[in-house]
Amino acid sequence: MKEVVIMPAKLLEGKSVALKIKENIKAEAETLKAKHGFGPKLVSVQAGDNAASEVYLKCQEKNAKELGLEYALKKLDANIKQDEFIKAIDSLNKDKTVHGIIVQMPLPQHIDAHLISRYIAPLKDIEAVHPENMGEIVFGTAKILPCTAAACMELLNSVPSLELYGKEVVIVGHSEIVGKPLALLLLNKFATVTICHIATSQRGTLPEFVKKAEILIIAVGKAGLIRGDWIKSGAIVIDVGINRVEGKIVGDVEFDKAAEKASYITPVPGGVGPLTVAILMRNAVEAFKQQIVKN
Ligand code: NDP
Repeated sequence: MKEVVIMPAKLLEGKSVALKIKENIKAEAETLKAKHGFGPKLVSVQAGDNAASEVYLKCQEKNAKELGLEYALKKLDANIKQDEFIKAIDSLNKDKTVHGIIVQMPLPQHIDAHLISRYIAPLKDIEAVHPENMGEIVFGTAKILPCTAAACMELLNSVPSLELYGKEVVIVGHSEIVGKPLALLLLNKFATVTICHIATSQRGTLPEFVKKAEILIIAVGKAGLIRGDWIKSGAIVIDVGINRVEGKIVGDVEFDKAAEKASYITPVPGGVGPLTVAILMRNAVEAFKQQIVKN
């Protein structure tokens, strides 16, 4: 007999939210072009080849074209010296026709990613990796937000009448691009935020934190890390993780079992992913506007 899957959770799909954001970007890009005679241009910088980055690069180019933004890929040699890399960034900083810079990760091992991020002009830093842009998040004044963290916030905004004030939020994963900035964005909305990481797992206390979460956001990259029976009844679950298991893309959460207990859950793929690149494009338009005002 076929197993019947009980799934009370509603799907939090990124596509529909991304579509609305993209419609706005397209309209705004057209208006800006009509007003200034030119529009936003973003440049991705890639050192060497990396199979994992190729998908993201193609996605950036496709989205930029669709939305009427100019896009270019600047390829650097995998063996480029660090000071040459910095010079390449600096020439993009000085180029008035370029409004957004993306440094494609991972970088070759001999290049210090933290150091490189300090050389991107903050106004052109459309992934918000420069310490100045990270600092703006602490102040609650950031106009350009880290894309994946902002994507999670957009998904939460799409939940009807969700009030973040005082909510118990648990984030699993403390990376600089997802967990840490997201914790601050949620804190700025007065959520009660707990961040779990490798040490939480090693101490064996991850299940007890997850079980308390009214909103659970996981960004680790380990399939099946979060068991379905840990999910609090009625919780909102956002799964950022991307893992390839037996040729299929899955998240970090045991989806079917989690969906039996959650009120909302993101599918993987199709949850956070489609929104991340939409936010990148939105950041490019925002960066353009800020630079036009300054010049
Ligand atoms: P990182 O590897 O930078 O961070 C992973 C985090 O998980 C680290 O904080 C790490 O802690 C923590 N961690 C590792 N193992 C455990 C464990 N057993 N229990 C608890 N925490 C653990 O990854 P990213 O933040 O860049 O990405 C996370 C996932 O999200 C990946 O699967 C990635 O592919 C996906 N992703 C998806 C995006 C999208 O658009 N959908 C965009 C960006 C990422 P520590 O460092 O201390 O070991």
